[in-house]
Amino acid sequence: MKFGALCHSYSRFETLSGNALRSALADFLKTVPTVDIKAVVYMTLGAIASDYDEINLGMADKMAIKAIALAAGKDEAKVSKEYKKKGDVGLVAESVCGTADGTLSVFDVFETLHLIATTSGTGSQEEKIRHFSGLLKKATPIEARYIGRLAVGKLRLGVAAKTVLDGLSLAYGIGKEKIEHAFNICPDIGIIAETVVGKGDDGISSIGVVVGRPVQMMLCQRVESLQEAIDKLGIPVAAEQKYDGERVQIHKDRKKVTLYSRRLENITSQFPELVKAASTNLNAASCIIEAEIMAVGKKGQLEPFQKLMSRRRKHGIEQMAKEIPAKAFCFELLYLNGKSLIKESYNTRYENLSSILRPNTSINLAQRVVCTDAKCIDALFKRVVGKCGEGVVIKSLRPDSDYQAGVRGWHWIKWKPEYSKGMQDTFDLAVIGAFRGRGRRSGRYGALLCAVYNKKTGKFESFCKLGSGFSDAELKSLSKKLTKSDSQPKNVVVLKQMTPDVWIQPTKVVEVLAAEITRSPFHAAGMKDGKGLALRFPRFLRWRDDKKAEQATTTKEISR
Ligand code: AMP
Repeated sequence: MKFGALCHSYSRFETLSGNALRSALADFLKTVPTVDIKAVVYMTLGAIASDYDEINLGMADKMAIKAIALAAGKDEAKVSKEYKKKGDVGLVAESVCGTADGTLSVFDVFETLHLIATTSGTGSQEEKIRHFSGLLKKATPIEARYIGRLAVGKLRLGVAAKTVLDGLSLAYGIGKEKIEHAFNICPDIGIIAETVVGKGDDGISSIGVVVGRPVQMMLCQRVESLQEAIDKLGIPVAAEQKYDGERVQIHKDRKKVTLYSRRLENITSQFPELVKAASTNLNAASCIIEAEIMAVGKKGQLEPFQKLMSRRRKHGIEQMAKEIPAKAFCFELLYLNGKSLIKESYNTRYENLSSILRPNTSINLAQRVVCTDAKCIDALFKRVVGKCGEGVVIKSLRPDSDYQAGVRGWHWIKWKPEYSKGMQDTFDLAVIGAFRGRGRRSGRYGALLCAVYNKKTGKFESFCKLGSGFSDAELKSLSKKLTKSDSQPKNVVVLKQMTPDVWIQPTKVVEVLAAEITRSPFHAAGMKDGKGLALRFPRFLRWRDDKKAEQATTTKEISR
């Protein structure tokens, strides 16, 4: 397929949103041959591989300008000036490069972008510039625009993975839910698209769990009383400690161990002690286990979440592993010795898990009791909270309690102190905007506009203005932490009266504690009869860097 055809579609997608975008995307996807579909869907999302592959584009803008100047045979200072005016590497490339006649194929561009992303070591900067300028020399103006944006990681077509899944469903007449389910089990948009195009409905139905490829993690529901949890799940139930750490999926394939975070990032290098424990203390040739990682103090006490976050680093990992050792508390088994267990009951999965796990200082089972009444769950809850634990997760033991990948279903219910005190809960919200501070806060952001995620539409809907709970240091660092957007991102919905001073790209998640949810004429979340839902008295608790914006609290959850 010609890269030019892709670029013309991109320039059209930029002008569309909602259903019009989905149907234009579907029409286009129908025209893409099987050999190119993987590259096309990755690139449409502004990437060149699946999220968990860790092959990131994202050349620095300055380096891209150098390459553009080289390709165009122009003075770098002049091109740089142009960039300052336009603020978009793509538009600069389009205006100064692009003299070729359109022979580039999707494959050529995809391959070269891979080469740029994976070139490393001494002299790699010069080599990247050489590859990039070489590619630009073969491009037409419109091709140069999108090559430029792709190379710096700023394609921003407003197309999310969900839009591509909807587009594939429309284009190939396969049920949306079926494709979404497959994507939850195999969160690689390239494999999903290739399977839809090459193997159709049957192919998608047979996508299964593969060791080494992360599975979207199952999530918890919430209730207003312990009795409600029992009414929903029946008895008996399993009540487990809810550890306040980092969720991890441990993939063991003979000698190879890979750790994936909740965002499906590869975090293997951060926890050498867990890799070792998985190698030596899991009696299985291959398996996929889920656990919560906790930092452990000198006396064996569990440390708060913040302590664990200080393990997130690139250097000095072995030293940090000694200073702040981590321990995995395991609660799930998705795969064992060549067989997927996600369709088995929780009881079967747990029995297998406990039979292969040999506890040591770095790995153990999560604390757990089987209960037949609320009193028994409450007793565990009080023990956990008494030791500063987060609460409990109550799990169904029914025969149909399968592992629901990526679903916030009713097999797991969380119970935290906030609920028992009659407060609503904490909410994980995506930051979509900021308001300039006044008075003591002038010169920095004074409040943030936060949103819930509407899974149906793929949009972030404003839900509260968050101004309290920040420390001075936190306030100071807000502008550094958040990525500004020149205009309202396409996937963000706010009401006019709540337009922020600065738009923010929805990538960061903040945990907020609030007293209640009310109807409000100011916010766009779950709109009904001209009024949305809003949080009253929200307070900043902490950043949730372990979550992607799409993993924020959903509109459906707050609309219950
Ligand atoms: P939340 O993020 O508040 O929806 O709570 C769900 C999270 O609790 C999961 O994603 C896990 O990271 C964490 N968690 C801690 N302990 C457990 C457990 N025993 N079972 C399931 N999830 C747990």
